[in-house]
Amino acid sequence: MSYKAEYIWIDGTSPTAKLRSKTKILADGAEPPVWGFDGSSTNQAEGHASDCVLQPVATFKDPLRGGDNLLVLCEVYNTDGTPHVSNTRARLRPVAERFAAQQPIFGIEQEYTFFVGNRPLGFPEGGFPAPQGGYYCGVGDDEIHGRDIVEAHLDNCLAAGIGVSGINAEVMPGQWEFQVGPLSPLEVADQLWVARWLLYRTAEDFGVSATLDPKPVKGDWNGAGAHTNFSTKAMRENYDAIVAACESLGKDGKPLEHVKNYGAGVEDRLTGLHETAPWSEYSYGVSDRGASVRIPWQVERDKKGYIEDRRPNANCDPYVVTRVMVDTVCTELETAGLV
Ligand code: ADP
Ligand code: MN
Ligand code: MN
Ligand code: MN
Repeated sequence: MSYKAEYIWIDGTSPTAKLRSKTKILADGAEPPVWGFDGSSTNQAEGHASDCVLQPVATFKDPLRGGDNLLVLCEVYNTDGTPHVSNTRARLRPVAERFAAQQPIFGIEQEYTFFVGNRPLGFPEGGFPAPQGGYYCGVGDDEIHGRDIVEAHLDNCLAAGIGVSGINAEVMPGQWEFQVGPLSPLEVADQLWVARWLLYRTAEDFGVSATLDPKPVKGDWNGAGAHTNFSTKAMRENYDAIVAACESLGKDGKPLEHVKNYGAGVEDRLTGLHETAPWSEYSYGVSDRGASVRIPWQVERDKKGYIEDRRPNANCDPYVVTRVMVDTVCTELETAGLV
């Protein structure tokens, strides 16, 4: 007997990488081996030296094919054994390791939008639906578009063993969110990428596409973000560490450095409108959905917990976002003796 292993990797498309996958048939019980692909078709190599290497790093049950079939998330390597330049996971690994003792964990809220052809699901042909107001966490056919796909995706994530913590309908029609975590940096980023793959794959069977475009409709319509909730052991235990974390993200040069790593087109989404703070000004506050970083009200009441960086775009790379957040905040907590 044999099983199917769907090898999934992140390509070299710029400015926003795409997911790719292909199937390998393996003997029953066989571990997924190192494999390869044509990098000249994924913006990862030139035609004359096209081979790239797929190194399996995490496996999940395949909820679509069922049985013993697997989803195999991979890192991309060059044939000389070095990580490919597009391999952002390889750059997160040493940072996650260096600060592992601080026990950083993340919960990422992935917003996205369904499209049919060139319009969001629920937008009438050649026009616009009623203005925003009733759609967020709404119910009913006049407000909700694509719930069958969302439910199928949620079931697929759970069957795959992904740590999804919830879903909700978003502010714009056809726009939804799922949350992954809280989990360690590598786990949350791995699982978010696989959950994204499952989203595209699940919607495919409904004849619908999903996009992480941060501003899918211009004008008075919410963009799509990936609010990143973050804590360390110290932050989960005391408020000084919460405040120090918020302050560290506002120090010299940090706001711009972070925003540059939060996904292509972030300036178009962080306008200061639609529950965002302007990308060029850093701020934090309790319960403030117009701030760059929000301290949830329960965290202020309990004097411990986590912070929410509201700036990352829906199309961000979670390997990059978690790396810069751990680097900035954990370095500061260490320096300030708050660990
Ligand atoms: P919002 O109110 O901003 O919509 P959500 O409920 O969508 O918030 O998402 C909050 C996320 O924060 C969830 O993924 C949750 O698991 C995560 N979270 C909760 N506690 C922590 C923590 N201590 N550290 C990091 N993430 C956390
Ligand atoms: Mn949310
Ligand atoms: Mn949201
Ligand atoms: Mn949020």
